[in-house]
Amino acid sequence: MGELSMDDSSSRKLHVIILSSPGAGHLIPVVILANHLAAEHGVRSTVLQVRIAESPESNLLVPAGDRELVEIVQLPPVDITNLVDPDTKVVTQLCMMMREAVPLVRSAVAAMDRRPDALIVDLFGSESLPIAGDLRIPKYVYCTSTAWFLALTVYSPILDGEIEGQYVDQPGHLEIPGCKLVRPEDVADPMLDRGDQQYREYVRMGKEFALSDGILVNTFEDLEPKTLQAFRENEAMKSVLKPPVYPIGPLTRPVQLTQTAGLKSDVMDWLDKQPNQSVLFVSFGSGGLLSIQQTTELALGLELSQQRFLWVIRSPTQGGVDEAFFTGKGGAEDDYLPKGFLDRTKDIGRLVLKWAQQVEVLAHPSVGGFLSHCGWNSSLESITSGVPMIAWPLYAEQRLNAAMLVEELGVAVRPEVLPTKKVVGREEVAKMVRTLIEHKDAQAMRDRAKQLTIIATNGLKEGGSSSKSICKILLNIEAKEN
Ligand code: UDP
Repeated sequence: MGELSMDDSSSRKLHVIILSSPGAGHLIPVVILANHLAAEHGVRSTVLQVRIAESPESNLLVPAGDRELVEIVQLPPVDITNLVDPDTKVVTQLCMMMREAVPLVRSAVAAMDRRPDALIVDLFGSESLPIAGDLRIPKYVYCTSTAWFLALTVYSPILDGEIEGQYVDQPGHLEIPGCKLVRPEDVADPMLDRGDQQYREYVRMGKEFALSDGILVNTFEDLEPKTLQAFRENEAMKSVLKPPVYPIGPLTRPVQLTQTAGLKSDVMDWLDKQPNQSVLFVSFGSGGLLSIQQTTELALGLELSQQRFLWVIRSPTQGGVDEAFFTGKGGAEDDYLPKGFLDRTKDIGRLVLKWAQQVEVLAHPSVGGFLSHCGWNSSLESITSGVPMIAWPLYAEQRLNAAMLVEELGVAVRPEVLPTKKVVGREEVAKMVRTLIEHKDAQAMRDRAKQLTIIATNGLKEGGSSSKSICKILLNIEAKEN
């Protein structure tokens, strides 16, 4: 394996703690990292899951083959009800939960038979990094988004000092040393309002990342060469972030084998019956909701496009759709979808309630495009399945991801105006859908995504760039252990 290789027998001894903030979108990439460390590097991981209530059996996320090396421990639920009011924003709430969880993390680590060899925290867990300091073990942050988002985050304390007024009101682009310029309207949610507490939490996080021994990012060299180079070589950037940045991705959930073992869902059966690359998959991640008006325009746009679609739908108002809405028995569709839409599109469209097996759907040959909220996991899953996208960012850092997918990677199209600013009309929806499914430009996007997939697969193989990054981290952990 060359000079950065790990001797199998020694790597097997390593035991890392990985801290996950609440929510499926945070737990999933953390467990994927743990599974990858187990399967490819023989490392044992304990995932500490911060949560607010009883959550479903998360150990199911670990494949049977990795169970000996990966354990998911649910920490006792944290309660922040006395700390929040109806205006408290998501990032503030997550930071509060992670702050409340610090003593729980400390106790869980103290109760372990053997001192762990390293602590890795996700984006919201930086306040637990001092626990590793006390134990004198290496500490890392796992950025489950892009290197570009990481650059914006660690540079936010500098922007905070340099720029007056709201970022969104700036006439020009925001400059981050050595990186692609940021359009002010594309900043991550916490930067939209500098008066809000979540902005202060975000800037604090940016400062705290610099106190780690390194930052793991779910990206790879060929996806973000410029930004990764800036972290290594740009003096201004290095002065704000001294610890090394390790591109270790793309780590995505593998397609479940059950799909090939005869346990297919009716959705997959439906996909089996559709022509190759003919279906648009529509999904807005684990938490994306559209307004009623936007839901109507999207529905009419899909209908107008006359293309096949598979739409994971949630109630625009309640965060969950009544079953009756799908069975047609409650007439609830009148509230959310245009009258008669279900009937008129029954031969080309399929709705799925709240959740689909996304990785499996994207890997299906019938899927030709993905209308996505551009969560980073979804974006990586789409790229590595060779599926071009309609970039429809809604929250968090998704506007930034969308800009990268469209402008830098060339694997997506997007509406002229951000969907967070203006309702995207049916005509524009139909045009984008046709571009993706019918137009020859889509083949170029598909080819680029396929090219990236080959590079990504090689990067994760022994000796590849992402594999080497992980080996470097493990060697550093091992060196500190001795
Ligand atoms: N996901 C899924 N089915 C759904 C919605 C989401 O399997 O119906 C998975 C998706 O494959 C991805 C994760 O949930 O792995 C969502 O993560 P992402 O970063 O894309 O978005 P978030 O939900 O964090 O906004």
